[in-house]
Amino acid sequence: AKKSGRGELRFFNDAMNAAAKDALVIDGALRGAIAGQEFRLVYQAITSAASGAMTKVEALLRWHSATLGNVAPDRFIPVAEDSGMIVEIGSWVLNEACRQLGVWKTGALGELTVSINVSAWQLADPAFVGLVQQALERNGLAPRQLELELTERVLIDNGSQVQSVLAQLRGMGVGISLDDFGTGYSSLSYLTRFHLNTLKIDRAFVMDIEHSERSNNLVHAIIAMGQSLGLQLVAEGVETAGQASILRQLGCHHLQGYHISLPIPADELPGFASRLKAG
Ligand code: C2E
Ligand code: CA
Ligand code: CA
Ligand code: CA
Repeated sequence: AKKSGRGELRFFNDAMNAAAKDALVIDGALRGAIAGQEFRLVYQAITSAASGAMTKVEALLRWHSATLGNVAPDRFIPVAEDSGMIVEIGSWVLNEACRQLGVWKTGALGELTVSINVSAWQLADPAFVGLVQQALERNGLAPRQLELELTERVLIDNGSQVQSVLAQLRGMGVGISLDDFGTGYSSLSYLTRFHLNTLKIDRAFVMDIEHSERSNNLVHAIIAMGQSLGLQLVAEGVETAGQASILRQLGCHHLQGYHISLPIPADELPGFASRLKAG
């Protein structure tokens, strides 16, 4: 038993070292990523459950590192959050998404709403509201064209400060959406305390909706609760026609997931939207 204990400890240490090394390498490579123009955004359609029309898109960050190749957000975002670099990266995302909205505005897509993911560090930055205002103004956008996705983690981490920042943003007309709903520290008090207008039901619940009565009941309850609070509901991770049809029946307003579209480059979005319209 002693022997295996030591073995496990060594395994644990090796795994920790590997993870720490990985984070260190990513941290180093991230430092030159903005200047090296290694980031880009892809956009995933969100459609109306009732009509099938594209109502908005979520911007998702992609990183092609000169030294590491493609690195997935789940690997580099946590590293950028640990170092605080997410503030600079997040501000790049905000400006790039708004620039793109400005370009789309003059083309066939017209006025569109883009949802971007925002980290706790960004909201804690006193400059944040000003950055949002500038990005909108510089690109001639209406505030309703921008939506910010926050996780429950962000809300508990800095309660009262976040509350006032969100109130300012909502006052301007910017949308606020609670991402990954149900996975984290869900407290129903968040739903009324913060100025939210959209709830995104996490993929974990949508995944089993066709085969698990429990998931089905849970999603049903989330939708009923959201509706009674006047919130818009988006189901994430919709991968099958069966899931889409159940969500529609349950009264979910919007659908997002591979069944509708993968995240795609900006220049493919106008074509996608017109194919969607044509049916
Ligand atoms: P998220 O905000 O929950 O984004 C949804 C993730 O689910 C995306 O992964 C998307 O590609 C993926 N997805 C969409 N539809 C489906 C589906 O039907 N099935 C499955 N299995 N997956 C689906 P992605 O792009 O790898 O991003 C992962 C996470 O990284 C995001 O989760 C978000 O938390 C974070 N992230 C991405 N871009 C940014 C950003 O610009 N800023 C910040 N702070 N975080 C970001
Ligand atoms: Ca999101
Ligand atoms: Ca999500
Ligand atoms: Ca997520």
